[in-house]
Amino acid sequence: MSSIEGVKSIADADVSGKTVLVRADLNVPMEDGRVTDATRIERFAPTVTDLVERGAKVVILSHFGRPKGQRDKKFSLAPVADALAKVLGREVKFASDCVGELAEKAVWALSDGEVLMLENLRFHPGETENDENFARRLAVLGDLYVNDAFSVSHRAHASTYGITKFLPSYAGLSLMKELEALSAALDDPQRPTAALVGGAKVSTKIPVLENLMARMDQIIVGGGMANTFLLALGHDVGKSLAEPDFVDTARAVMDKARENNCEIVLPSDATCAKEFKAGAEAEVCALDGVPSDSMILDVGPQSIADLKMRLQDLKTLLWNGPLGAFEIEPFDTGTVEIARAAAALTKAGKLVTVAGGGDTVAALNAAGVTGDFTYVSTAGGAFLEWLEGKELPGVAALKQSDA
Ligand code: AMP
Repeated sequence: MSSIEGVKSIADADVSGKTVLVRADLNVPMEDGRVTDATRIERFAPTVTDLVERGAKVVILSHFGRPKGQRDKKFSLAPVADALAKVLGREVKFASDCVGELAEKAVWALSDGEVLMLENLRFHPGETENDENFARRLAVLGDLYVNDAFSVSHRAHASTYGITKFLPSYAGLSLMKELEALSAALDDPQRPTAALVGGAKVSTKIPVLENLMARMDQIIVGGGMANTFLLALGHDVGKSLAEPDFVDTARAVMDKARENNCEIVLPSDATCAKEFKAGAEAEVCALDGVPSDSMILDVGPQSIADLKMRLQDLKTLLWNGPLGAFEIEPFDTGTVEIARAAAALTKAGKLVTVAGGGDTVAALNAAGVTGDFTYVSTAGGAFLEWLEGKELPGVAALKQSDA
C-alpha cells in the first residue's frame, strides 16, 4: 500500500462557513522578535488563502521553540502572526492562548474568510504529552481539523495526533504536496532510481540504508559515512572521520544490499587535507593513497565525473546528506557539482529529484539549485523517519480518523 493511501485532502472537503483548525509548523528562525527566514510561512500561505477563498474561518495552531509547557514571552507566536499577515496580504488576528475562554471568544468572533492565529501550543504541557483532555479542548474550537505540518508529523502530540479522534481530519495542501512528492520517490519511483545518502556518520543512518536498499536500484554513499565503508573494504583512511566500531555493520549493509540487488556506490577517489579549516591545502588522493596524517573531506574529481555519468541514466534521485564537509571551501565541490548536475537534468525533464534534511537544504541553497529540484523537504527528523520507512503518527492519524 502506498504510504499516503487513505489520507483525505482538504481540497476535497466542503469548508464554507466552517471553522477549520489548521496545524502548521511556523517554528521559523527569529532574531530580536523578527522573522529572519519566511520560507516556512511562504510554503504554508497557499493553504490559508485557499481556505479563506472557500469561505472558511481559519484558525492556525503551531508550536514555536521549546517553552517546556510554560508560558514564556520569548516563545510567543505574535511576531509570526504579523509575518504571516504580510505574506498573505490580509489581516491575521491573534489570541494569546490556544485553549480556554480567550481562544474560544476569539474563534467565536470570526466571520467567514477571516484568519486567526492562536498562541504557542507548547505553552501547555498537554501538547507534547498528547494529553486527551488538551486535545479535546483544542478540538472544541473547530468543525474540521487539517494537518499541514509534515515536519512535526513524526511526533504524536495532541495537535498532530490526539485531536484527530475528535474532528474530521484532513491533510492540508502543502502536507499533501509533500506526501505525494516523497511517496513518488520512495514508494513508486520511476526506475532506475538511486538514493544519495551522505552526512557525517553511518551509525545514524543504518535504518535509512536498510529501508532504501529494499526500494532503490542504487545507494550512492558519500560524506564521512563513506569512510567507514572504505575502512570495511580495507582502505586506510588516515585521520578521516570514520567509525571503526561500525565496520562490521558496513559490511553487513553491503551484503544485504547485494541480496536485494541494490548496488552500493562508493567514492573512487577523495579530496583530502591535513586540517579541517577554510583555505586548508587540499590534495586529490587515490583510495589507497590517503596519507596517514590527512583526512578525506570530500569526494574527488574522478568520483564527481563518475557520479555525473551515473545521473544521466537515472530517472529518480532521492538525496539526504552532503557528499563532503560542504560548509568549508573547497570541500563543498562534490556536493555543489552533483547538486547542479541533478538540477540541470531535472530542469530538462529527465530526472525526478527529491531531497530533504537540514544540511541537505543548506547545501542545495549554497549550490543555488533548491528551486530547480522537483521537491525539497525542509523537514529534518520527519524526513529521516520517512526514509526509514516508518509510518509517521501524524499521517497515520489522518488515515484512522473517522470522527
Ligand atoms: P549529517 O548531519 O549526518 O547529515 O552530516 C552532515 C555533516 O557531515 C556536515 O556538517 C558535513 O560537514 C559533515 N561531513 C560530510 N562529509 C564529511 C567528511 N568527509 N568529513 C567530515 N565531516 C563530513
